[in-house]
Amino acid sequence: MNVHDSERLAGLLEAAGYRRAPEGTDADVVVFNTCAVRENADNKLYGNLSHLAPRKAANPDMQIAVGGCLAQKDRESVLERAPWVDVVFGTHNIGSLPVLLERARHNKAAQVEIVEALQQFPSTLPAARESAYSAWVSISVGCNNTCTFCIVPSLRGKEVDRRPGDVLAEVQSLVDQGVLEVTLLGQNVNAYGVSFADPDQPRDRGAFARLLRACGRIEGLERVRFTSPHPAEFTDDVIEAMAETPNVCPTLHMPLQSGSDRILRAMRRSYRAERFLGILERVRATIPHAAITTDLIVGFPGETEEDFQATLDVVARARFASAFTFQYSKRPGTPAAEFADQVPKEVVTERYQRLLELQERISLEENRAQIGREVEVLVATGEGRKDAATARMSGRARDGRLVHFRPGELEIRPGDVITTTVTGAAPHHLIADGPVLTHRRTRAGDAHAVGQRPRTGVGLGMPGIGAPRQESTGCGR
Ligand code: SF4
Repeated sequence: MNVHDSERLAGLLEAAGYRRAPEGTDADVVVFNTCAVRENADNKLYGNLSHLAPRKAANPDMQIAVGGCLAQKDRESVLERAPWVDVVFGTHNIGSLPVLLERARHNKAAQVEIVEALQQFPSTLPAARESAYSAWVSISVGCNNTCTFCIVPSLRGKEVDRRPGDVLAEVQSLVDQGVLEVTLLGQNVNAYGVSFADPDQPRDRGAFARLLRACGRIEGLERVRFTSPHPAEFTDDVIEAMAETPNVCPTLHMPLQSGSDRILRAMRRSYRAERFLGILERVRATIPHAAITTDLIVGFPGETEEDFQATLDVVARARFASAFTFQYSKRPGTPAAEFADQVPKEVVTERYQRLLELQERISLEENRAQIGREVEVLVATGEGRKDAATARMSGRARDGRLVHFRPGELEIRPGDVITTTVTGAAPHHLIADGPVLTHRRTRAGDAHAVGQRPRTGVGLGMPGIGAPRQESTGCGR
């Protein structure tokens, strides 16, 4: 979500006349889009700001802005800790950035603007997309859940859903510009439909499944992904829509967090381990070969060895293709940070290692089972760190697995689509060292080759939140 917000910040600044500073040059404006979910976000931010302090001292016209979740959380204290910052803005008003920069320049004084509720659905803002072939599309922002480890609800607010027509218009606009793959984004995508921004739009529990099916009718859209669904709200109509919509990819990222029902309760996550496993069973019965991935937290306050064993058991039964595993650490401002029974760091680290070993073994076994299979790969850039040294290119299979393949003499571009056969496996990637079986040059590949990137949010006529605003927003609507 932050990555996509950064695309919007870039789009906003470009629409206001700014140009991206060439690599290796000193920029006139530096914007930090911060995240508060990961540990040490504030150390990183203030460390980076300190690095910039001498440059700012040497060139007072240079401007530094801090936005995102950490800014929403720290507010004025950003300026107390780094008084050389020019602009602080929050998660609900990213559209204000150009105006705040202008005002700070004009008034020669720092500007702090944090608001408590979403002013405008972020997708109405211009976005300068990073990829010619793959795009994020927000379907909702915020979250109505209250997981005790999570800072998101207090920083991103209650869930607000975008009208399906607006989502589909954005997807269509991206496809018209050559994009082949979209990832529908929301904190809790299968709650989509519970709180439409448009008051005329009725509450609709089946909205997400219908949205997937509607994406299936967009000609030229080859791959639809979504992240993340919440197990408590996962309904069979979504599984059916996934199975029956050919361009919806056979992949599911569904956070488990813990395999212990006691810990799930303490996390305030309302599903239980058996329900989670039941969903996986139904997904696999309907979509054979679906690659299922997850998030796991080790060492949540109060976690006993028995609770941790329950997580290992569920992980062993679930056979995830891969997992993002995290060691629990306190997030100030969340209920769990105040829980008394915090697990000692060395216990957390030791459990984390055991979980990692189990999941790595499963990932390797699941990837080895792919050897000999033919895969369709959407060729990407930046996915293979060793590509230059190994004369390979990289991309994602339809199920989301990373594939490193040999293009041979073929002139293949990021954004093109190839098929090849898997010849080797590691826990985090597949190798395809045989010949490329088919190669399709795509419009996305053409666009990538000439450095053209899709733009959205300008001229789509998408409404903001609440009553129509009288004044111009300056965003080209
Ligand atoms: S569902 Fe996700 S975003 Fe919402 S509170 Fe829980 S962890 Fe945070």
